[in-house]
Amino acid sequence: MPSAQTSSEAGKVPMWAPKRPGFVQKLSYASRVVPGLILQRLTRTLPKGKVHLVIALADHFEPAIVPGDGKARAPYSEQERRLERWCSEYPNVVSPWCDHDGRPFVHTYFYPVEQYDRGLLSRLADHCHAGWGEVEVHLHHGIPHADTAGNLRQMLVAFRDRLAFEHGCLSCAEITGVPRYAFVHGNFALANSAGGFGCGVDEEMQILADTGCYADMTLPTNPFNPSQCAKTNSLYECGLPLTRRAPYRSGQDLRCGRTPGKFPLVVQGPLALSKSGRRLVRLENGSFTGATVPTLQRLQMWKKARICVQGRPDWIFIKLHCHGMDPSQENAVLGSAFRTFLQELVEGAASRNEVLHFASAREMVNIILAACDGKSGNPGDYRDYRFKRWKQSGSTHKNADVPVQIVGRQ
Ligand SMILES: [Zn+2]
Repeated sequence: MPSAQTSSEAGKVPMWAPKRPGFVQKLSYASRVVPGLILQRLTRTLPKGKVHLVIALADHFEPAIVPGDGKARAPYSEQERRLERWCSEYPNVVSPWCDHDGRPFVHTYFYPVEQYDRGLLSRLADHCHAGWGEVEVHLHHGIPHADTAGNLRQMLVAFRDRLAFEHGCLSCAEITGVPRYAFVHGNFALANSAGGFGCGVDEEMQILADTGCYADMTLPTNPFNPSQCAKTNSLYECGLPLTRRAPYRSGQDLRCGRTPGKFPLVVQGPLALSKSGRRLVRLENGSFTGATVPTLQRLQMWKKARICVQGRPDWIFIKLHCHGMDPSQENAVLGSAFRTFLQELVEGAASRNEVLHFASAREMVNIILAACDGKSGNPGDYRDYRFKRWKQSGSTHKNADVPVQIVGRQ
């Protein structure tokens, strides 16, 4: 089995940081990002009239997480307890409040490759097959030593195949039986974008493409992080060759009338600066945490980011993120703050001229692709537009070690 390394998320002390950026360096990073955010704040406004909100929550789902300590691992019995509690509690929390299509609020469980455990994954897969979410791929690697392209490729293929063939997770497109997946990079260091920390593989996005990844949902992080690019609040194809370091730093926006051909697509969540109470500036990056619980006030910011396929402005895509297994975040993902938000979100949608669609990462991308193909009407009709759930597709194709051939990829 190829090796993977342990995790530490942004905002916590990393296990290893070769050149920890200083204040001036962080300002330099921010100077790339903040002008664009200010311009968007001046030019992007809340939409008028009825809008469809397609909402997905990318859960960096790490049963072994120990709050505040990226090196530590919770005991296995604690991981089992956390997962069992989650799977039994979650349906009770979300069941009362469904979206326009009669669907409950779902998580997409981006499960860390390096924390794979057959028993835990089986329990989570059962939870998902019952309709409460979907499993996708998360990876922390390149710590303490830079990863290699070969090891990365083997890890992704092995994990992808376990998820699909053993657990019935992930998806496939109609034209091929190879498992397809969405991805979130640990520590935000996608395609070696953090100065060598937490990755080490410049050509990572080419490897993602070769192994069946159709969308990356890592971004945003924050303006002071080296991985954050100047292009924000966008859905796009990478502008640089996928073999280059951080090829997502520029790209071509998705738009109606042009079917994208370069995968993985970059699906960003909202990133904005806002005034808030006594703080002059507050960063909004779509995270659910103990300190930043979801609220209707934040919903306004997410809408104002206006992340959409060009030419389909009334379909707004809101990709949020959280760490559902972190006990310190419980109020934001399972507790009273989340329950209040969900109730207010659903009950007040009509009065706010919103039509809600709770989606998995896969469903969100399918709806995005439908918009690119010029589809209109109810976005909820396109949840399975291209990528179907593996378990429901009936696919048993096993010869999945060959690179996925995607028309138009570079
Ligand atoms: Zn993570």
